[in-house]
Amino acid sequence: MPENSGSTSNSAPTADPEQGYTAPELPLVRTRQVGGIRVHAVEAGLQHLDGGAMFGVVPRTLWERRIRPDARHRIPLALRCLLIEAPESLILVDTGVGRKEDDRFRDIYGIDNAGAPSRLEDGIRAAGFEPTDVETVILTHLHFDHAGGATLRRDDGSLAPSFPWAQYVVQEGELAFSGRRNERIRASYTPENIEPITEAGLWHTVSGEVEFTRGVHLIPTPGHTPHHQCIQVESDGGRLAPHLPARCLHSLGTSRSGSQGTAGGRLARVQGHHAEDAPRPRIPQNSHTRG
Ligand SMILES: [Zn+2]
Repeated sequence: MPENSGSTSNSAPTADPEQGYTAPELPLVRTRQVGGIRVHAVEAGLQHLDGGAMFGVVPRTLWERRIRPDARHRIPLALRCLLIEAPESLILVDTGVGRKEDDRFRDIYGIDNAGAPSRLEDGIRAAGFEPTDVETVILTHLHFDHAGGATLRRDDGSLAPSFPWAQYVVQEGELAFSGRRNERIRASYTPENIEPITEAGLWHTVSGEVEFTRGVHLIPTPGHTPHHQCIQVESDGGRLAPHLPARCLHSLGTSRSGSQGTAGGRLARVQGHHAEDAPRPRIPQNSHTRG
């Protein structure tokens, strides 16, 4: 993993953490129609990760013009999920970080997702549903910033699926890979996010490309993880493929203008992973390179 260069530029001041970006600056839900299917982009909060690690070989002197790091050299990354009103199932794609991690973890990763219990659930309600309405949870992969909200910690300290009435869908290979006790991936695959679903018997694994339900296709997109998958929605001539793997996000990550007059205008933009016509925050989806 490339180290942050640590270089500084007088023309690109480091953000004051007191004035840093916060999740409430982002629209909680943005909705678009894909043929006959409504799709809601749910902003489930922010995490803050090392900017040098996120941009890889791109020098800091270039990327910090687009997105200012905080005092700890971190940049904000959106924990963006999708809620898909598919004809045969209400589908949640990815779950953000969740709310069960301790203060130390939340400080290290700059987690900003407070809600009831998190902004994910707030967003589901803002889209017109209750979390209990979710029938299917599709996970692009099982890193903690995508699968953390898949489970919760009860008041007695025990862990449980956050959506016990839903099936959890993941590539078979991803689930197997997550179980490896390899120290290079251990920090990203947290057993607390995975084992309660296993114990509850809620996994529904798929292998390869499938039309999971009418209009919703699961497509293997290895790279970020060996068995990462993206979701493609197709209906009545409309098509949306918003969850690209991080490698694609990185290659698409350019911003042509910093002049947008919204809070999002101060944030970096990754083009191509959302197709909404409406103005949108310029903030990359969690496109980290760990693990
Ligand atoms: Zn990941």
